[in-house]
Amino acid sequence: MRLGTEWNRRSFLGTLGMIAGSVIAGSMTASKKLFAAKASSKVSGFGQTGNPYEELGVTTVINCEGTMTMLGGSILRPELEAVMAQAGRHFVSIPELEVAAGKRIAEMLKLPEGYTALVTSGAAAAIQSGLAGILTGDNETFIKQLPDLTGLKSEVIIQKSHRNPFDHQLRTTGVKLIEIETRDELRHAIGPRTAMMHFTNFANGAGQIKVDEWVKLAKQYKLPCMNDAAADTPPVSHLWDYTNMGYDLVTFSGGKAMRGPQCAGLLIGRKDLVGYALLNNSPHEDTLGRSSKVGKEEIIGMVKALDLYLNEDHEALAKEWQGRLDSISRQVVRVPGVSTAFFVPDIANRVPHMQITWDVARISLTPKQASQLLRESKPAILMGAGEEKPGLAMNSFMLQPGEDKIVADQLVRIFREHSA
Ligand SMILES: *Cc1c(COP(=O)(O)O)cnc(C)c1O
Repeated sequence: MRLGTEWNRRSFLGTLGMIAGSVIAGSMTASKKLFAAKASSKVSGFGQTGNPYEELGVTTVINCEGTMTMLGGSILRPELEAVMAQAGRHFVSIPELEVAAGKRIAEMLKLPEGYTALVTSGAAAAIQSGLAGILTGDNETFIKQLPDLTGLKSEVIIQKSHRNPFDHQLRTTGVKLIEIETRDELRHAIGPRTAMMHFTNFANGAGQIKVDEWVKLAKQYKLPCMNDAAADTPPVSHLWDYTNMGYDLVTFSGGKAMRGPQCAGLLIGRKDLVGYALLNNSPHEDTLGRSSKVGKEEIIGMVKALDLYLNEDHEALAKEWQGRLDSISRQVVRVPGVSTAFFVPDIANRVPHMQITWDVARISLTPKQASQLLRESKPAILMGAGEEKPGLAMNSFMLQPGEDKIVADQLVRIFREHSA
């Protein structure tokens, strides 16, 4: 696996059972203290401790892996929580809200004339609804009939190296994915059944046809073109780079680095196509996307998340993330035999990462054992054991205040306990 995201996801999946098994008991953990400090004095019954997860017996973890859906995405900023709570206090027409939110997002992103956005329940839902809209237009019969494609176009072209688990959301519309590798194969694959050309942004390096050429070819063949850029902020400019490049539809996850609600995402693109996507999505009934419900709180929350994200000092943030890694590094390299190195993935989770390696002659631990010991520590720490890079790998952008210190202390402890 080439990618940090996938690499992390896989290493995480492999040990899901172990996390489930390691329930924290007894003493007040640092994460508990964090929650308790935030707890509202008004809550009685369930939630009164300030940590409803632990009341259910589910262990919360310190997240060194990043914005993983499997771990809960990201943590909401308090200001975002407040605005989402405001949203929850009123009734409103959801279709009207969707259009207004899309218009505001288009203004905030300074999208070209004729472009807008739709808040969906995530990037996966944006992929599905975006393609559904391309297939059906505003034809009610077609919208109701999906995924039966009788009378509709039925194929989507994708580069072989761009296939990934999220293209399931293309296939749910009923289309067949046609894999190509070369420009020649692309030309031969295009025909009367072709509905769209799909691009997976994180796979840009893997395919023969790169992101800018792909959209040019789509224009040449007069085909709509989608780019799934779900996890590809930062940089923040990716939010408009691909529509500026000419992509008709671009998808983003709201609950990753933008720190929006976990169940939110964005479909950004041409007004007509975004409008058709909405017709194929909740709250509209008898649609493919009715199961991808997005609530008023998430719609408002996504607008606010963008408002906060766009006004953030991104350079300062990157420095802060690097600073947390540096401080952990300073602690762990004091253990004889331990070294650290830093890297930033080219795309997806483009944030500072740290690789931790050690001399196995001095410290008898495999990366997997080290990762497992961290998971069993109190509080539990989730850190990937690299499958491509040796040792452990972590990032710090989802760490909460004070957690870098806990991570450093635990790393030092496990290395020392296994030192010869
Ligand atoms: C996370 C991700 C998605 C799905 O995003 P959600 O917002 O969780 O629906 C889709 N594509 C890629 C490449 C992703 O990384």
